[in-house]
Amino acid sequence: MGKPHILAVAYPAQGHVIPMMELVLCLSKHGFKITFVNTESIHKRVMSAFSVGDYAGEMINFVAIPDGMEPWEDRGDLGRLTETMLQVMPGKLEELIEEKRGIDDDEITCIIADENAGWALGVAEKMGIKRAAFWPAAAAMLGLLFRIQELIQNKILDTDGSILKCHKFTLSPGMPIMSTEIFAAFSGTNAGKILFDSVVYNNKVVKGADWIICNTSAELEPEALSLFPEISPIGPLMASSRSGESAGHLWPVDATCISWLDQQPACSVIYAAFGSFTLFDIDQLQELAQGLEMTDRPFLWVVRPDMTNEKIKTYLEEFEAKIQNRGRIVSWAPQDKVLSHPSVGCFLSHCGWNSTMEGVSNGIPFLCWPYFTDQYLNQNYICDVWKIGLGLSKGETGLITREEISSKVEQLLRDKSFRKRALLYKEKAVNSIQKGGGSDKNMSNFVKWISSGTEMCKP
Ligand code: UDP
Repeated sequence: MGKPHILAVAYPAQGHVIPMMELVLCLSKHGFKITFVNTESIHKRVMSAFSVGDYAGEMINFVAIPDGMEPWEDRGDLGRLTETMLQVMPGKLEELIEEKRGIDDDEITCIIADENAGWALGVAEKMGIKRAAFWPAAAAMLGLLFRIQELIQNKILDTDGSILKCHKFTLSPGMPIMSTEIFAAFSGTNAGKILFDSVVYNNKVVKGADWIICNTSAELEPEALSLFPEISPIGPLMASSRSGESAGHLWPVDATCISWLDQQPACSVIYAAFGSFTLFDIDQLQELAQGLEMTDRPFLWVVRPDMTNEKIKTYLEEFEAKIQNRGRIVSWAPQDKVLSHPSVGCFLSHCGWNSTMEGVSNGIPFLCWPYFTDQYLNQNYICDVWKIGLGLSKGETGLITREEISSKVEQLLRDKSFRKRALLYKEKAVNSIQKGGGSDKNMSNFVKWISSGTEMCKP
């Protein structure tokens, strides 16, 4: 048998492709051959945002399979996307694996699939290939999904995922408070029901995987990981600085903001970025812009191209002209480099788990502005468990006001205890992935398992 050949299957969203890329880049250092599978539409975007000479290009073979939707269809329709993916992708993945069967050095020996792409674990099981599930969010969130049947039995959720009773609870003392708000995205729509069914299916299929690895650390989520010992923490993956430059990004990275950051005083800049999904209406966006202006501090703000329309564009052009060099607006930042830059003082974030791990790994205090699903849970980790950030409250109009933004920035930056605790958590995060740390030990065992023969295969 040739060298181990990993087939990595990513879920088609930015917050899933980047951490999977980071994981396989770590694994590639052990000499494994890696094939990275994206949907065709994500593959196109990854390839067009890829910079020439990126190290990932040498280490990884990128391939694409169709997601079952026509090229012009809206992939924001997650219900339909989930359905077509389930219809088409398992067969296409089987064909891909079959083509490589029996070919020395090319045969797939192990599949690592995003937990949300549970269908790929089903293909691995059917074809007798050993398999691991990768969960790129908090262990507490996966644990909560594992407890869905209890929430249904307790009449908190309906069998289709709709919320029956608004409820706050915790899975164990020391874990963050959870709220049924996390399930709002599943509630009351047909798309929500399809997504919920796929969560229930993934819950089942993941139990048969040889490993469930998670981009977290026992130092950050001790209670969740002792409650769900089947989840093995191997993160935070970016704590030791990202190995790829542009690989995995769906938008071209604008690195010019780094030289602007170089000109700013230490710990002075507010970095405002809201991940890959968050959208603001013009009123909320204006409050945010005015709030940043009111702080009298330098700021770097990411406004993705798909967040804007003509009205927003015009507003932002006028705003930039007024602000001049005090602030920078970019359409996609090299977030890992920004957060490790000494001039960044705080992170105004939607609290996606990758952003959360990246902020924690760099010792940055947070201002939390969650948008949906697990971001509420992540906010509770940041504000209530680790105490390294503050939440923003909506005003009477339902908007987060400019006054709220500027006063919370002041509070966060004036009270040095936030930065102090953030640095403590940075140390914990970095220790876990350093030689002998908990995540490092798990990663070594995971690497051994990949290298081992087929004895652990569960056909
Ligand atoms: N990101 C980036 N540049 C940006 C904004 C985000 O590189 O301008 C990256 C960020 O570092 C993170 C990912 O995009 O790795 C977003 O994932 P997250 O889980 O934070 O949020 P999601 O997009 O899934 O809501």
